Amino acid sequence: MDQLYTQLKNYGKVKIDEPMSKHTSYKIGGPAKYFVVVEDVNKFIELLKYLDGEGERYMILGGGSNVLVKDERYDGVIVQIRDQNIIIKDQIVEASAGCPTVRIAQESIKAGLTGFEWGVGVPGTIGGAVRGNAGAMGSDMSKTVTKVEVYRDGEVFELHNEDCTFGYRDSVFKHDGGVIVRVWLKLEKGENKDLQKKALMYMDQRNKTQPKGNSSGCIFKNVECNMMNAELLKNIPAEFVERGFIPAGWLIDQCGLKGYRVGNAEVSEMHGNFIVNLGGATAEDILSIVDRIKEDVYTKFSINLEEEIFII
Ligand SMILES: Cc1cc2nc3c(=O)[nH]c(=O)nc-3n(C[C@H](O)[C@H](O)[C@H](O)COP(=O)(O)OP(=O)(O)OC[C@H]3O[C@@H](n4cnc5c(N)ncnc54)[C@H](O)[C@@H]3O)c2cc1C
Repeated sequence: MDQLYTQLKNYGKVKIDEPMSKHTSYKIGGPAKYFVVVEDVNKFIELLKYLDGEGERYMILGGGSNVLVKDERYDGVIVQIRDQNIIIKDQIVEASAGCPTVRIAQESIKAGLTGFEWGVGVPGTIGGAVRGNAGAMGSDMSKTVTKVEVYRDGEVFELHNEDCTFGYRDSVFKHDGGVIVRVWLKLEKGENKDLQKKALMYMDQRNKTQPKGNSSGCIFKNVECNMMNAELLKNIPAEFVERGFIPAGWLIDQCGLKGYRVGNAEVSEMHGNFIVNLGGATAEDILSIVDRIKEDVYTKFSINLEEEIFII
């Protein structure tokens, strides 16, 4: 038994050469040299301090629903936070980073709180959702987060909403490596049956527009119009320009790429911004589709698409 393995066991369950395909919504990903599942946020912090102190290579996995893990072995430690603790008091929801976003949405609805019904359809953990400022149905995490407990460089501290620098699918954590440990949301009081209805409507809308196969959700960010010059916007429908962003799925569709297939991966016929794993696809398959899409969209629209997913 090597020393690192023995040490890691102090913090959670450890597996060696665990295939990440078992832990990602894509069902894709090569093995991690060490995979540690931590059930408690305090142990999580201790583990991060230990890894930083030892200079070990590591990365965090939440629900694995916004990542593409490459096929080759990850030569380091992948830490999955599974602490699902949630406390709802008055209008404040406090959740550990490993709590599923869907569960927070459901518990909030049960508690008669409104503002997070859109979370019923978003897979993954609240930690991952805060990092990427996840959103749907016109809302996003920035609208409800009041405070975040963060680990960075051996220190644990709190950041208030305004310090998280939330932007479209963006936050300070994407840039400074801060790890989200706990999250506080502030919601409004609502009528339970209206909230249930709204959540069902959101789910219904999602089912009608998104493919069911294994995926990581939207591959690319939509394109903000304020990043583009007037000349380029001439080729874009007015309704998108008025809304302020161009759906990446529309750009992909305009390039005739729906149904485009490499190996066992395919651009969804239902939604151009989803690349689905038809069964047995490799990260290589997905990445070669990603490259082709970026190239074609650039050639046709002079737009550089930016990945929303995180590639490990
Ligand atoms: C079918 C489907 C539908 C989706 N629909 C939506 C949608 O409507 N809106 C939307 O925004 N997204 C959507 N997604 C994408 C995804 O669900 C969200 O981005 C989600 O919030 C990711 O959370 P996660 O825990 O799975 O993150 P992971 O995929 O595990 O990780 C994503 C990134 O966050 C980092 N990370 C994870 N946890 C932490 C933490 N505690 N602290 C710091 N960094 C962390 C990881 O290192 C990685 O870089 C969808 C995905 C799927 C598969």
